[in-house]
Amino acid sequence: MFNVLSELEKFRAEDIPYSRVLSSMCTTPLPIALKAHELFIETNLGDPGIFAGTWKLEQKLIKMLGELLHNPNAKGYICSGGTEANIQAIRAARNVIRRERKIDRPNIVVPESAHFSFEKIGDILGVEVRRAKLDEEFKVDVASVESLVDENTVGIAGIAGTTELGQIDPIDELSKLALQLGVPLHVDAAFGGFVIPFMNKPYPFDFELEGVTSITIDPHKMGMATIPAGGILFRDEKFLNALIVETPYLTSRYQYTLTGTRPGTGVASAYAVLKHLGYKGMKQIVDECMRMTALLVEEMTSLGFEPVIEPVMNVVCFKTEKAEKIKEELYRRRWVISTIKNPRAIRLVVMPHVTEEVVKGFISELKSVLRS
Ligand code: PLP
Repeated sequence: MFNVLSELEKFRAEDIPYSRVLSSMCTTPLPIALKAHELFIETNLGDPGIFAGTWKLEQKLIKMLGELLHNPNAKGYICSGGTEANIQAIRAARNVIRRERKIDRPNIVVPESAHFSFEKIGDILGVEVRRAKLDEEFKVDVASVESLVDENTVGIAGIAGTTELGQIDPIDELSKLALQLGVPLHVDAAFGGFVIPFMNKPYPFDFELEGVTSITIDPHKMGMATIPAGGILFRDEKFLNALIVETPYLTSRYQYTLTGTRPGTGVASAYAVLKHLGYKGMKQIVDECMRMTALLVEEMTSLGFEPVIEPVMNVVCFKTEKAEKIKEELYRRRWVISTIKNPRAIRLVVMPHVTEEVVKGFISELKSVLRS
């Protein structure tokens, strides 16, 4: 008899396991996240009257994320990922500012290091995306941000954990600037949101800073939840309300989400991870990722590589003109890394699945690639 499961298994076996992946910001979900995911597999938060319990759980999770980000009253929801969260943050800022002031051609100012989701944002929302310069440490230059702001600016953004280098922009200075100029400040902490609060050195980046309007924080990255699970939180409900459309034939009267039908699995799995680990457990995982990052730096340095910046969080890039060649040869051997162009370097993301054994295996394969 034709067995569809064995067919599926064959396809799945072609995927590369996370234990050979140092390029992704996603990871193996915790076992508790998988259990929670299964329990909520048929839920649809697009129809919260039917899934009233799941909706209540989402509110509880948003409060927990708000507490983590120094504002238990923050409002928001769990979405498909950082891209959607960023789209919604900028859409809300544009709608609020456009209502308050007459804006002809809206623009936003983001760091040059901003994730490519901002390119999509420009296209979808019809907003001009202005890119501010970075300083020598690859943090956004606040003076450059200020110089790009004009009367049509509907928001500025800072990145707390850049995709390429894991760098943290000076969000405290951006917050002051946002207050001074009267523009919303969005913080993209898609990656850093579940790292920075647990690091030993404090980096102010969240609602503790008065100028921060909205934050992206993704449970399906360092939150170790199942995909899809992104998070968008607003300091003030008026921003969430600026996203509302009426939904005449559903159990709710309106929706502020981008997608209609949306899973409750991300809510359940993110909630399960946070409850199961607590802040203490989360900190242990972040500490271990930082320890593995330090180990990688040590091993790579002994091979003659130099990091682009001293790693701030669990992302590290090493300068080499041969970056593309190394990446391709490793991929041929079923190891996945990525590269950056400016400066030319290989990029490694040290997620919780990157254990000491993974680091050793990777270094040994890399040595063999360098000899070849
Ligand atoms: N923002 C940052 C800083 C990211 O690093 C990423 C993805 O890596 C995103 C946004 C987009 O997230 P997603 O791929 O979940 O849409």
